Amino acid sequence: MRYGTQVEQALRRAIIADEVAVHFQPIVDLIDGSIQGFEALARWTDRELGFVSPAVFIPLAEERGFIDSLTETLLKKAAETAKHWPSDMFLSFNLSSAQLIDPATGFNMLAIINRVGLDPRRLELEITETAMMSDPEIAAKVIDELHTIGIRVSLDDFGTGQSSLGRLREFAFNKLKIDRSFISEITVDKSSEHIVRAILMMCEGLNLKVIAEGIETEEQAEMLRSLGCRSGQGWHYGKAVDSAETFRLIEAQQAAQFGSRSAYIVTP
Ligand code: C2E
Ligand code: MG
Ligand code: MG
Ligand code: MG
Repeated sequence: MRYGTQVEQALRRAIIADEVAVHFQPIVDLIDGSIQGFEALARWTDRELGFVSPAVFIPLAEERGFIDSLTETLLKKAAETAKHWPSDMFLSFNLSSAQLIDPATGFNMLAIINRVGLDPRRLELEITETAMMSDPEIAAKVIDELHTIGIRVSLDDFGTGQSSLGRLREFAFNKLKIDRSFISEITVDKSSEHIVRAILMMCEGLNLKVIAEGIETEEQAEMLRSLGCRSGQGWHYGKAVDSAETFRLIEAQQAAQFGSRSAYIVTP
């Protein structure tokens, strides 16, 4: 059997058996390290295939036409965890390209989080430029609809793919995520530093918030702070963790802020 077909069958089974999990990577304030929110990342380990990357199974689910049911399970799980976080923390969730050409996406996303009970104002949806490219007109409508509902929209992996600055003018994004490829070079390659500096200046003018992706070292974090970047995520601050661990991280942070008797404990 072809690997793709084997993965597809295993994935269909896993969705039905509820074996695809969601993990959460903290997004932090680069000045004091406090958690601002988490990005949901799909995780799946098959008994026979072992760990399969979402970079493999998400495109496969799109191609084979079952991304909607997969997204529904993932968003539902993510929202069930997120609704128990302190109310000033957001959930960032990746939208796939198929969802950007579906005019019903806004409605569908809202229906899922309403059922769970997560305030739409705490949800951010990440989209990539490549995903928007297949039908920019419908994508623009989907984005407008999300704004109307109160869901924020972030531009993911900025600087890769078919980047166009015009897109920043045409589409109403709330945030821009600088791709990891720039951050990993920022302390060793002057041109990456200049590009990040320029992106930060541009975003300030455009009133866009910025998140630096893939911060792996304190040197990179320090460089980003010196350039005026406020938010970031990456292994230096933490890899994606399971739902229960998000609450331990939040409690540890609250204990550090308020002393050992924390002002309020969050447990689902
Ligand atoms: P992404 O949205 O750009 O997510 C960031 C990726 O970078 C994640 O890979 C994350 O684990 C990884 N990462 C975070 N910090 C670091 C770091 O410091 N160093 C390095 N080397 N990597 C870091 P992951 O989890 O393998 O996901 C890959 C891609 O799959 C995501 O890229 C996203 O496009 C897609 N994806 C993941 N989960 C979902 C989902 O639930 N729905 C959809 N539609 N796409 C998803
Ligand atoms: Mg993302
Ligand atoms: Mg990204
Ligand atoms: Mg990516």
